[in-house]
Amino acid sequence: MDPEDFRRLGHELIDWVADYRERLEELPVMSRVRPGEIRAMMPSRPPEHGDGLAGIVEDLDQIVLPGITHWNHPGWFAYFPSNTDLSSVLGDLVSSGLGPQGMNWITSPACTEVEDVVMDWLRQAVGLSQAFTGVIHDSASSATFCALLCARERTTDFSQNGGGLQAEDAPLVVYASDQAHSSVQKGALLAGFGAEHLRLVETDDKYALRPDALEEAIAADLAAGRRPCALVASIGTTATTALDPLRRLTEIAERHALWLHVDAALAGTAMVCPELRWMWDGIERADSLVFNPHKWMGAGFDLSAYYVRDPDHLVRVMSTDPSYLRTAQDGLVRNLRDWGIPLGRRFRALKLWFVLRDQGVEGVRERVRRDIANARWLAEQVDAAAGWQRLAPAPLQTVCLRHVPSGAVTAAAEDGERRRGDASESGGASERGDAEAASLTEEGLAAHNLAIAERVNAGGRFYLTSSDVKGKRALRVSVGAEATERRHVEALWAALQEAAR
Ligand SMILES: *Cc1c(COP(=O)(O)O)cnc(C)c1O
Repeated sequence: MDPEDFRRLGHELIDWVADYRERLEELPVMSRVRPGEIRAMMPSRPPEHGDGLAGIVEDLDQIVLPGITHWNHPGWFAYFPSNTDLSSVLGDLVSSGLGPQGMNWITSPACTEVEDVVMDWLRQAVGLSQAFTGVIHDSASSATFCALLCARERTTDFSQNGGGLQAEDAPLVVYASDQAHSSVQKGALLAGFGAEHLRLVETDDKYALRPDALEEAIAADLAAGRRPCALVASIGTTATTALDPLRRLTEIAERHALWLHVDAALAGTAMVCPELRWMWDGIERADSLVFNPHKWMGAGFDLSAYYVRDPDHLVRVMSTDPSYLRTAQDGLVRNLRDWGIPLGRRFRALKLWFVLRDQGVEGVRERVRRDIANARWLAEQVDAAAGWQRLAPAPLQTVCLRHVPSGAVTAAAEDGERRRGDASESGGASERGDAEAASLTEEGLAAHNLAIAERVNAGGRFYLTSSDVKGKRALRVSVGAEATERRHVEALWAALQEAAR
């Protein structure tokens, strides 16, 4: 494609994306295609002769769009948000247009230096001290994997340069809560610790890791001759946005020389608000942390921020230094190939640069505050409504709730009573009139609530998912798409009540 054709089609496609964003609200949030439907619309063989992209816009409309689930839709309440602000789209366009590969400083100095600056801006924006140095990874999963590799190498004094884990005489142990994201388990397995040496420690009634249970697990491992190595603390778990008690965990980690990695994938963005930083009190004593500007902040997937206190250690673990990659500037500059797993790197910093310049930190802060207020509003409605229960505290933007048909309660209702300790609570009884005998089992309640979610999702205006909270099925309303305003949350609440009826 020559630049003239690019210019013409490019303008057309920018218009197409802009039109798409403008009419997002009219589209059903979830794709309605059946398996194989998209594939069947495409030729099974590659074109022998190019068509110069003739008819590509029609194909996008007919083939691609029906198979898109709209993460930027104002009715997006599923999983966590994955906002791609339009400024970020432009940043990515520029990145592709320039097409640089930033593995070494010399292979495009701007890739490295814009990333240096933007990651330092981001560090300041979330209130981290200069003790931390940041690097962009593709995902929190990769960053957590790197953290566990760094932990392994610190505890074994660089076993990788000798016999590796296979030559260690004592097995190394990784700790996290039973609510930790599956990426912690995946990282621990891939880093070679082995499933037998991953402890998913019990959590309390707010789904936060119990320090006493952690101490017990460590003591048992030490007594059995195993070596405690790493602790992953979750600030904002995926199921309920629970907050592990970080400050107490830092003390335990220091006492046992554990590498402390903090997974704040969603919550990190909220730390732009000084009034929320109590949530990760103690963060300054972590060895590493990750959060995802590609979730709540607006930098489109994939852009994960990984911060470490000891960059030299990270580079020692990650670098290979073959002769064909050495450059004259080594030692003077960062060569980002040595800060993560892949050799090649896209110019991801551009999209974050664009978002921060466009919105400013204050713009992000306003959105975070808006979303938290909207979630709090929903939590209050749930607490005040007969027949509805909240299954977890809602310190951030996710509300875990369920409907309990009258007369169908349960131990579950009493349990709900105990979960009223978080800052957003104002009291109020959501279990009114449920003194009746239990008639629905947990399974029955789960089926009832999944049916509610299915009905709401089928309506096309909203999409929400569920999570299992210690054996109970919660509908999980995750507020935080950029386009979601109070009216959308109000409409969702009305739809949930309607579906329950
Ligand atoms: C989303 C999430 C992850 C995984 O994020 P990726 O960037 O998709 O790997 C990890 N931890 C928590 C707590 C999450 O919510």
